[in-house]
Amino acid sequence: MNAYSAYRDTVKKLLDSGCENAEFEARQLVEFCFSLNETQLLMKNRENVDGLKLKRFNDCVERRSLGEPLQYILGEWDFFALKFKVGKGVLIPRPETEILPRLAIDQLKKTGGKVVYDLCSGSGCVGISIAKFFPNCRVYLFEISDEANYYARQNIKLHNLFNVELIQGDVKKGSKYFGLPNPDVIVTNPPYVPTYDIESLQREISFEPKIALDGGIDGLDFYNVISASWFGCLNPGGILAMECGENQIRGVLSFFLNISTGGKIIKDENGIDRVIMLKK
Ligand code: GLN
Repeated sequence: MNAYSAYRDTVKKLLDSGCENAEFEARQLVEFCFSLNETQLLMKNRENVDGLKLKRFNDCVERRSLGEPLQYILGEWDFFALKFKVGKGVLIPRPETEILPRLAIDQLKKTGGKVVYDLCSGSGCVGISIAKFFPNCRVYLFEISDEANYYARQNIKLHNLFNVELIQGDVKKGSKYFGLPNPDVIVTNPPYVPTYDIESLQREISFEPKIALDGGIDGLDFYNVISASWFGCLNPGGILAMECGENQIRGVLSFFLNISTGGKIIKDENGIDRVIMLKK
């Protein structure tokens, strides 16, 4: 079997299994298992591939065709132009979430703030991106899940960062419980999917941890906690940037009506209102 035939077979198999981006994903798996990029794949099409590599490749294709996300199979994914380790047990970084580090870095550059909290930090991709691109700050990641923290630790190491600290704990306990220096910026991509919507999401999402998705009956549990027990700890002039789900803006804002002095709503690349930024 040569790599090119393996690739063609895979595109077909992935299409049959309902994968929307079959050619792209098949190429990613070829690169991962055979270390061949797109051009090499097309050029080396007559060379037989190593049997062990082929076996590993077929295992990966099988996992993908059963619905496991490509990101878990590859074990890493790009976010904010950086690589992050991911796997079962941690939410996969999504492109719309890149709005959060962008806002945080702009704010830090403008105000010279130093302390950043990333609440419900998961793989750490948001806080780590901020720490990497604004080395002059100190970032605290707050996350309760052991599995997620396993990846966050690897990611801190991978990026060789000494200005990131992982705080294992329950965000629902509120800022006072942790007793850390007050932040200038809080970023968060909390679980925000309404409990009863989780079952109806894409097949791939069923492989992701429920704890990273389930935001309670209306999906808003964490925004309530953040308004009541975190917003107050921001330094004067500080900002809070929160990702939220489609059509949740009004619900989220209702928690902050009397405590914020203003802010703005930022749309994602699909034109959906995705992030709320509020000033203290
Ligand atoms: N963006 C994710 C989704 O719609 C949800 C992530 C989250 O709950 N923070 O699947």
